[in-house]
Amino acid sequence: MSYARQAVGHQAEADATLDFDAVVIGAGVSGLYQLYKLRELGLKMRVFETGTGVGGTWYWNRYPGARFDSESWTYGYSFSQELLDEWNWEEHFAGQPETERYLNHVADKFDLRRDIQFESRVTAAHYREDTRSWDVVLEDGRSYTTRFLITALGVLSAATMPRIAGVETFKGQSCHTHYWPKEPVSFEGKRVAVIGTGATGVQTITEVAKTVGHLTVFQRTPQWCAPLHNARIGEEEMRRIRANYAEIFARCQETYGCFIHATDPRATLEVTEVEREAFWEKLYGEPGFGIWMGNFKDILVDRQANALISDFLARKIRQRVKDPAIAEKLIPKNHGFGTRRVPLESGYYEIYNQPNVKLVDISATPIECITPTGIKISDREYEFDLIIYATGFDAITGAFDRIDIRGVGGASLQEKWRDGPQTFLGILIDGFPNMLMVMGPHAGLGNFPRAVEYTADWVTGLIRFAHDRGLTRVEATAASAAAWTEHVIESSEGLLFTEVDSWMTGINRNVEGKQVRRIMRYSGGHPAFRKRCDAVTAGAYRELVLA
Ligand SMILES: Cc1cc2nc3c(=O)[nH]c(=O)nc-3n(C[C@H](O)[C@H](O)[C@H](O)COP(=O)(O)OP(=O)(O)OC[C@H]3O[C@@H](n4cnc5c(N)ncnc54)[C@H](O)[C@@H]3O)c2cc1C
Repeated sequence: MSYARQAVGHQAEADATLDFDAVVIGAGVSGLYQLYKLRELGLKMRVFETGTGVGGTWYWNRYPGARFDSESWTYGYSFSQELLDEWNWEEHFAGQPETERYLNHVADKFDLRRDIQFESRVTAAHYREDTRSWDVVLEDGRSYTTRFLITALGVLSAATMPRIAGVETFKGQSCHTHYWPKEPVSFEGKRVAVIGTGATGVQTITEVAKTVGHLTVFQRTPQWCAPLHNARIGEEEMRRIRANYAEIFARCQETYGCFIHATDPRATLEVTEVEREAFWEKLYGEPGFGIWMGNFKDILVDRQANALISDFLARKIRQRVKDPAIAEKLIPKNHGFGTRRVPLESGYYEIYNQPNVKLVDISATPIECITPTGIKISDREYEFDLIIYATGFDAITGAFDRIDIRGVGGASLQEKWRDGPQTFLGILIDGFPNMLMVMGPHAGLGNFPRAVEYTADWVTGLIRFAHDRGLTRVEATAASAAAWTEHVIESSEGLLFTEVDSWMTGINRNVEGKQVRRIMRYSGGHPAFRKRCDAVTAGAYRELVLA
């Protein structure tokens, strides 16, 4: 390909007039590492971040009980031996404050803050063909130009409130879990409502129940929760973890979701009932996502296998919740175990045995409205001092939809993705040159930083390649994007999760236009993803158009 020749003359002229070589949007795990990597190229950089501090998810989500479902020591960055050597994780599954501290430590250690502009929400990003650059506009009207635009927006960063009338009329305190205040909130003696029982709701409810006056949980869809089994990490144990980092990260590279939990090669019905029960008891008694990620190979594809593991979990709920009628309400009926994101819990089911906790099923009789004093359902009104909205996120594409992103000829990204995302490797989009995504749609979900480090390295490699050759325009072809999108769709075929409404299939009943299931993430597993990306690099990016 003759891209080097086409670029000559274009770059020198354009570069001098641009504010930045690269702009990154977002200062979470992805944005911080992307900044660190691009600095190695000596680029003029800026990160724009809405919040006042670094950390993304771990900056915003200060709600009670917010913590990892990833083992802390598999979640930390792996790129710096010095960082690994000096950081001590306090808990196997760190709470939000510890993770926020960790990410602040990273920002300080690598002097990242000097290139991060906080309180800077990006509202628009428009590509200009004449300069092969992006105009980036902030909420306050300031605008900047950059050659490359890198999105590190987060898959769970666009919080959504429920579409219930009267939310703004409530006179007591109310808060979405994502926007939880920095100041402590007391629940003592208070009548508290929690709306939503997803992973965040489960963590919040369990923590609030410890000190609340009275708690009412409004549940539309129960989830299949499994025990987290968190524990503190002592000095000796931390020493052992540190000595094993190389093996830990190597194992994460081998597994489907970059967790330490690898799928068991056996099929559910291959073993006897006694063996099966013993295996599941073991997994249920172990920390983390083992019961989801380290289970028999067919529980997420075979209906009979899925029904059996779901029945095992249902029995656990019945054992742990004293009132059989409440237990039945807590058992999911519209999806099998593992087909939605599994919340990990620490005593969640037992809180329903407390006399001061009430479960209200809103699947049949939805909330009618929020009133100045509480929540109204049919003919009943509940009064509250505090309403907590654990109503989640407009996941994966939500943060993109909140920015007016326009590519070649002013084409809108939101419009392009109206019927579902189309990407090349989840990183590039045809028609949107010089825009690169870290953990955008069609990326594989899983243990985040493991995937983030690979993707940001790949993005850096591509920019280095262009930079070294004086190339100023990098774009996926329509054919390569179509082929990858097709592959993403094929890779999810046969997986039971595709038959279920959830944020992982693009459904959010609180967001206009998000009522049709889409394939939002790559289900082929991280090893396959890396292999494909490596092949693109090895082929000198021939599948892209570089100029
Ligand atoms: C409660 C919760 C628990 C989780 N637990 C785990 C876990 O245990 N393990 C795991 O692997 N993952 C977990 N995740 C997923 C988590 O989001 C990732 O682990 C990781 O933190 C994502 O990092 P990120 O940088 O890609 O995105 P984020 O951390 O979401 O950061 C994105 C940043 O971009 C900023 N931003 C977005 N739009 C704009 C804009 N227009 N202008 C300026 N700034 C913008 C946001 O303010 C945010 O700070 C969890 C998520 C949540 C919400």
